[in-house]
Amino acid sequence: MTRLPAHLVAERAARAAETVRHQPCPRCGADTLTARTPDRVAALDVRADPEPIDPVQIPADPNRLAWCLTGGDHTPQRIRWRDRWHAPHCTHPVLIDHACPPQPVQETLL
Ligand SMILES: [Zn+2]
Ligand SMILES: [Zn+2]
Repeated sequence: MTRLPAHLVAERAARAAETVRHQPCPRCGADTLTARTPDRVAALDVRADPEPIDPVQIPADPNRLAWCLTGGDHTPQRIRWRDRWHAPHCTHPVLIDHACPPQPVQETLL
């Protein structure tokens, strides 16, 4: 194995973090989509519900932000910040932040 220059290693690690994948929520176990936004200025780790929603149903709750799911058949999927300038003409599937149910199933079983 040849050693990659540090900046390439960092670049690959960043790309891996940006890969959209299904992961169970560590708190409630629900299926979620996680990825780091590819924004160089303020990369954020997003955990969103896996089902896109109709943009008219985006909750007013400021703790549940809306995200664009970009990419598709020929380009890797990315979760991107959906800002107010982009939103009016957005055609991407829209994801919203995952919020755990108020009463996790595990607690009701105990
Ligand atoms: Zn969009
Ligand atoms: Zn959860």
